[in-house]
Amino acid sequence: MNPYESHRLRGLLPYPDREANKYSRGHLVLVAGSAAYPGAACLAALAAQRMGAGYTEVVTDPSALPIVQSFRPSLVVRSDETWLDGEPLTASPARPGACAVGSGFDPGDERSKRLLFRALDTADAPVLVDGGALAALATDEGRKRCRERFVCGLPTVATPHGGEAARLAKLLGLPTDDARSLARSLSLAYGIVVVLKGPVTWISDGEAEVCMDEGTPALAKAGTGDVLAGMIGSLLAQALAPVDACVLAATLHAHAARFASDDLTSVSVTPEDVLDYVPRAIAAMG
Ligand code: AMP
Ligand code: MG
Repeated sequence: MNPYESHRLRGLLPYPDREANKYSRGHLVLVAGSAAYPGAACLAALAAQRMGAGYTEVVTDPSALPIVQSFRPSLVVRSDETWLDGEPLTASPARPGACAVGSGFDPGDERSKRLLFRALDTADAPVLVDGGALAALATDEGRKRCRERFVCGLPTVATPHGGEAARLAKLLGLPTDDARSLARSLSLAYGIVVVLKGPVTWISDGEAEVCMDEGTPALAKAGTGDVLAGMIGSLLAQALAPVDACVLAATLHAHAARFASDDLTSVSVTPEDVLDYVPRAIAAMG
C-alpha cells in the first residue's frame, strides 16, 4: 500500500544545484487567506519556502496583505482583487510552476468560488485545492472544471479533511464510511489526486492508494493543514509528479510533527512549531 521506501523518498527531494536560481527552484502562486483567516496564508507561504520553492507569491485579501507582508518580508504579496482581473497563470517549461488555492478561504463566500475557478480555468500548471475552496469544488461547476483539466493533462490535487471530503461525497452520492475507497472514488469522479487527511491519510490517483500513517495526534490543531498545503504546493512548483509531491510532503509533515512533539510534547506543539521542525525532518531524511 505504500511503495515509497525511504530511499526513494530521499531521491525525490529537490536539492538546489550550483546553477540554481530562484525561478528554476519553482514559482508557487499561493492564493490563500481571507479577512477572517489571514494566518492560513502565512503558514502555507512559510511552509512553501521551507520546502524549497524559490519564489513564493501570495495572492490574498486586501485586508490580509499587510499581515502577510510583515510576517515574512521575502514573500511577494499581491491583492486577490487585481489577480482576479490579471493575466492568466501560465507556466513556461523553464519555470515549472504551480498554484495552491483555498487555505484560509471562507467556504461559503462567492469570492472563494471566483478565485478557485479562475485558478482552475487559467492555470497552465498543477493546481492544489485546499480549505475553503473545497466547498466550491463540491459543485457541478467545480467538478466539470476538474474534468476539463484532466482531459487536457493538467494535474489537480485536492486535500480535504473528513468533513470537506463528506461534502464532495454528498455531491456524488458516495458513502463515507471507508476512507480508502472514498479517496479512490473522489479521485476517479473528479480526475484529480485526492489527499484525504485524518489520523491516517489516504492518497489516491484513482489507480492506487498510498496509506500515510506516520503522523501524530499533535497535528490535531488548527493550522496544520495549511502547512501541509504549502508543502505540497511547493513540491508541485518544483515539478514533482503529483502523487510523489503529496507523499513526500505528508511524510515530512508527519516527521516534523514527531520531532516537534519529542522536544515540546504532543500537548504544546503548534503549527508554527511543525514549520520550524521541517528542516530537521529534511536533514533526518539525509
Ligand atoms: P486540517 O484539518 O486541514 O487542519 O489538517 C489537519 C492535518 O493534521 C492533516 O494533515 C491531518 O492528517 C493531520 N491530523 C489531524 N489529526 C490527526 C491525528 N489524530 N493524528 C495524525 N494526524 C492528524
Ligand atoms: Mg484545512
